[in-house]
Amino acid sequence: MSDLSDKVAVVTGAAQGIGRAIAEDLARRGARVVVADLQVEKAEAVAKEIAAETGQPAIAARLDVADINSAQDMVERAIAEFGRIDILVNNAGTTRDNLIMRMSEDEWDLILTINLKGAFNCSKAVIRRMMKQRYGRIVNISSVSGLAGQAGQTNYSSSKAGLIGFTKALAKEVGSRNITVNAVAPGFIETVLTADLPQELKDLSLQMTPLGRFGQPEDVAKAVAFLASDEASFITGQVLSVDGGMVMQ
Ligand code: NAD
Repeated sequence: MSDLSDKVAVVTGAAQGIGRAIAEDLARRGARVVVADLQVEKAEAVAKEIAAETGQPAIAARLDVADINSAQDMVERAIAEFGRIDILVNNAGTTRDNLIMRMSEDEWDLILTINLKGAFNCSKAVIRRMMKQRYGRIVNISSVSGLAGQAGQTNYSSSKAGLIGFTKALAKEVGSRNITVNAVAPGFIETVLTADLPQELKDLSLQMTPLGRFGQPEDVAKAVAFLASDEASFITGQVLSVDGGMVMQ
């Protein structure tokens, strides 16, 4: 297991699902974590559980990734508590699925703002500090939908494809400061986000997955932990699929 002791990690959207599993995994490896989420009470409960389970200090911070001021406030809170930020995981994201004929402009804007601009806001809020300390690990949670496209998800697929471009552009900008920027593209992972999808879509996803099972949040967390560790210090601008083989690039 990679050692992240002395590292401070911010995980956005960590009150549940994949983000929660990432925060837990990083803490088990020794990182002090900031559980940042819109759902503050849930985030506080998660931070407490992480601290109790791992013995690592963990805090919750209110965050709306869509709001750049909120991102800056969250970073200030993390610095006030832990003094630095080494790892940022841009995980917060959501869906508003609809066929383009029925998709409203609001549904488009909301998803692009949370999923794509959210990563811009949080990365911008931490990047100066990472550049100054000449160390940083940024991991963006994209999706198979961003690689292959998904009907009914023009907004979501665009936001997740946009995150891949963002990952590569930022990796080029900050590589000389020993900051790596990578993306993870999960396939079908069992969380609240996928629980209510129509059964036909679930069956189809399973058929398209060579490993023959749905992913768990922990599967994604392990890939993120690798990219956030010193073992991945020569890897940047990459997209790592964690999808049971659903999309082979
Ligand atoms: P989830 O809905 O269970 O969790 C998302 C978390 O993000 C929630 O805690 C929510 O409160 C938080 N969040 C939403 N909007 C926010 C905002 N504006 N500011 C701060 N926090 C906000 O979803 P999940 O399945 O755990 O997904 C996590 C990430 O993984 C998302 O980016 C999602 O697109 C991506 N993803 C999920 C799957 C999957 O199959 N579940 C597949 C590919 C990618």
